Amino acid sequence: MTLEQTLIHLHPDVRDFLKRDQQIFIGGAFTPTPNADRIDVFDPSSGLAITTIPACGNAEINEAVAAARSALTGEWSRLRPADRERAIQKLADLLERDGEVFAQLESLNNGKNIGLSRAIEVGASVDYLRYMAGWATKIEGHTLDSSIQAPPEGSRYMTYTLREPVGVVGAIIPWNFPLSMLVWKVGTALAAGCTIVVKPSEETPLTALRFAHLCHEAGLPAGVVNIVTGYGHSAGAALATHPAIDKLAFTGSTEVGKIIGHNAVDGMKRFTLELGGKSPMLLFADMQDNQDQLLARLGLFFNQGQVCTAATRVLIERSIYEQTVEKLAKVADSLAFGPGLDPTAEMNPVVSARQRDRVKGFIERAEAAGACLSSGHRAVPERGYFVAPTLVSNVTPDMEIVREEVFGPVIAAMPFEDEEHALHLANNTSYGLAASIWSTDLNRAMRLTRALKAGTVWVNTHNVLDANLPFGGMKQSGLGREHGREGLEHYLETKTVTIRYQ
Ligand code: NAD
Repeated sequence: MTLEQTLIHLHPDVRDFLKRDQQIFIGGAFTPTPNADRIDVFDPSSGLAITTIPACGNAEINEAVAAARSALTGEWSRLRPADRERAIQKLADLLERDGEVFAQLESLNNGKNIGLSRAIEVGASVDYLRYMAGWATKIEGHTLDSSIQAPPEGSRYMTYTLREPVGVVGAIIPWNFPLSMLVWKVGTALAAGCTIVVKPSEETPLTALRFAHLCHEAGLPAGVVNIVTGYGHSAGAALATHPAIDKLAFTGSTEVGKIIGHNAVDGMKRFTLELGGKSPMLLFADMQDNQDQLLARLGLFFNQGQVCTAATRVLIERSIYEQTVEKLAKVADSLAFGPGLDPTAEMNPVVSARQRDRVKGFIERAEAAGACLSSGHRAVPERGYFVAPTLVSNVTPDMEIVREEVFGPVIAAMPFEDEEHALHLANNTSYGLAASIWSTDLNRAMRLTRALKAGTVWVNTHNVLDANLPFGGMKQSGLGREHGREGLEHYLETKTVTIRYQ
């Protein structure tokens, strides 16, 4: 299929959007970048280039940060909280209106299933914006009783705290959930009264650039939201080290997250890091029967395993180990390959040729180290960046496949003897993002939810999130939380006010 044949089936607005010269969004205007190189953007289902975006660097980042700085003290700062709420609601309404365009664009560019794009990238993002809009009017400090003793004699004090926007936010986001990651940062920043410069992933920039059109249409004051494309080592690094950024919000790999954190501390910027994971799924013999489809689709191979919370280590009680591996392998081998835009396809391509090769490297090294591939032997479509969903068994805790984040449809299965052993294996990782327990024994589930070292623990489910629920990692999986009140706190500063009176 040629690109034209793919595009002909898409929403006319998607086709129109792709015909345009893709420009970055700075100070409320789409900005040409005649001196910037261009980066090809691909359709991972076919491997064909669909458009190009600017490879920005210091100059464009400087311009965007200056626009965000100036917007911080302009009209935006004078809006009432209720007006900020309305502005975010307007973005939500526009995103909902154009939902199908965003969903198709995301599936075309990222390769993910269109149903997932509709439900999560668009649906949950609309919900997230509406949820965060509500916070704009509910930000509050405290009045405090103090014990201050200071001259002159007889002084009394009124003390309270003000919550203020942290300032200009620099947001750097990955390719696995491009629109969601953008909305998590933008929605929260706007609710807090911040301004923001976003650098989307160079692999999946299209929904971010389309979102800029919504910011324009919504009438957000110029410079409140700025979107600049480019590579991590140039645009990303320029944003992360910019002296006029007050807070960095990063989602991506632990490796890059550490660089961002060091930079942030050097500049004494506030920062939050949402990083990688190697999340365990604990399957006990008393779990409900016949859940292999659910386990495989929700936890193991959801979004081709390109999920920071993917259940990449499935720990199975010994008495059900053999049969469970067999059943999960069967589901893995039955998932139908196809492009993200085909609603019947169950296993879509991974995001890029580079990622496909990286994932295949993990599988090959696992086999060479003595692991056994219980699924994943079948041929994948010739075109596009497909990887067969692979269940790896006969592994030991020291193997790379058990320790490192793969970020693809590859799962390591290990047996455990009892609850204590399961807990030991589950916590035996440098990561701590999520975990799930599958059991009908409530007492066991309660004991384990306390003992697991993970930012999120699910019981009899996996990979379910909500705007209201704090999300983030322990250990090497990050610092801080997104979502909910706790997520908002990271976009606010506290100012203490002390007033003397007689
Ligand atoms: P990545 O770290 O390679 O890139 C993430 C972003 O950082 C991209 O925009 C990239 O251009 C930019 N970047 C790269 N090098 C940079 C540098 N030196 N300075 C500044 N910016 C730089 O990650 P990825 O491959 O795009 O995404 C996959 C990773 O994201 C996985 O590790 C996954 O676990 C993680 N992730 C975490 C969460 C979470 O909430 N914890 C959610 C989604 C993805």
